[in-house]
Amino acid sequence: MSVTPIDGSVLVVNAGSSSLKYQVLDPRTEEVIADGLAEQIGEGQSRIKHWYRGQEVVVDGALADHDAAIAAVLDLFAADGVDVADSGLAAVGHRVVHGGRSFFEPTLINGTVRSEIERICPLAPLHNPANLVGINAVTALLPEVPAVAVFDTAFFHDLPDAAATYALDAAVADEYAIRRYGFHGTSHEYVSRKTAETLGRGYDELNQIVLHLGNGASMSAVAAGRPIDTTMGMTPVEGLVMGTRTGDIDAGIVFQLARVAGMSIDDIDTLVNKRSGLKGLCGENDFRSVLERADAGDESAQRAYDVYLHRLRRYIGAYMIELGRVDAIVFTAGVGENAAPVRADSLAGLENYGIEIDAERNAIRSAEPRVISTDASAITVLVVPTNEELAIARQAMEVAYGS
Ligand code: ADP
Repeated sequence: MSVTPIDGSVLVVNAGSSSLKYQVLDPRTEEVIADGLAEQIGEGQSRIKHWYRGQEVVVDGALADHDAAIAAVLDLFAADGVDVADSGLAAVGHRVVHGGRSFFEPTLINGTVRSEIERICPLAPLHNPANLVGINAVTALLPEVPAVAVFDTAFFHDLPDAAATYALDAAVADEYAIRRYGFHGTSHEYVSRKTAETLGRGYDELNQIVLHLGNGASMSAVAAGRPIDTTMGMTPVEGLVMGTRTGDIDAGIVFQLARVAGMSIDDIDTLVNKRSGLKGLCGENDFRSVLERADAGDESAQRAYDVYLHRLRRYIGAYMIELGRVDAIVFTAGVGENAAPVRADSLAGLENYGIEIDAERNAIRSAEPRVISTDASAITVLVVPTNEELAIARQAMEVAYGS
């Protein structure tokens, strides 16, 4: 079988605790060459969905760990006639969730960087260890290819001190690196820059509110190209109601669950991160089902939707005040890009604040950035699809080659 080189392309890796998402793309042409997801790694029955140049393959079988998953993915490429290890792949970009206080720029990975990512694992015990396993597994198989870590917290590194600081005993906070870091930064930066491009305006001219509403969800306030606040905090739990996370809750609930319900810290962690949010309120975290059930009169789905919207509107109001002048409100990610009712309801009745959604524009489905407010609306409301893989690939190339 002839071997196809995929020169100039970047492998983007996003390793979760039991999953591995990957994409091979050319950051210059934006062409996606391959895309895939390995799930339930280490859980006995695993599955890889692999898509290469228009062909999809699904492979079921056991993947003991991330090393095995990556080896299996490289085998799938080989079956397509692509020897990734020997193909001139230009760089690997790894999504790393938490950069702690150490990392605020995309960083070429070497032994020291790996040790530092390991050292900050306690700040993100659900994410960074998996990211590190992904880095180690890919490095072992592709040792010659420069690998770059792109941190989800980086964009928010310079949050104003007042927005980044918890009103916690300052010495304790300092000792344990407890502050608000923010997440989804790659997406917030990509989308806010794309918004300026779409509107034909300078990035530093615009004040924006960006709503990244996926399974995880966060909002940011970006003033003249600089983030001044974001809803996620030391961990991705804080802020908006999400698919399975609570978002903001009274910290006293944790004490109550430990003291009165006798739950362990690990159980509470799982409850807050995986069994709450929309799923906790109505049993499902897929937003499409929540909308369908609510439309059909299901009370728990309607309640979940109402709680979700209430939190969104609260933060939109807060960020309008923080920014003072808002030029653009931007929706992105699975829910933000696709759920027209969420966009309409979260900004309903705000005409006095200069926000007017155009119902017809809002109903249009498209993969392109688009304006959904009326021409008379003082604040422009947009849908701007996010593309974290492209942003990571571009940053990886820039760090590896300065291009
Ligand atoms: P993540 O990357 O955090 O896993 P995504 O950005 O892919 O999440 O968003 C996933 C969410 O988007 C799911 O809740 C899914 O139901 C929702 N979603 C996708 N398409 C639609 C749609 N047409 N209408 C409503 N929600 C949608």
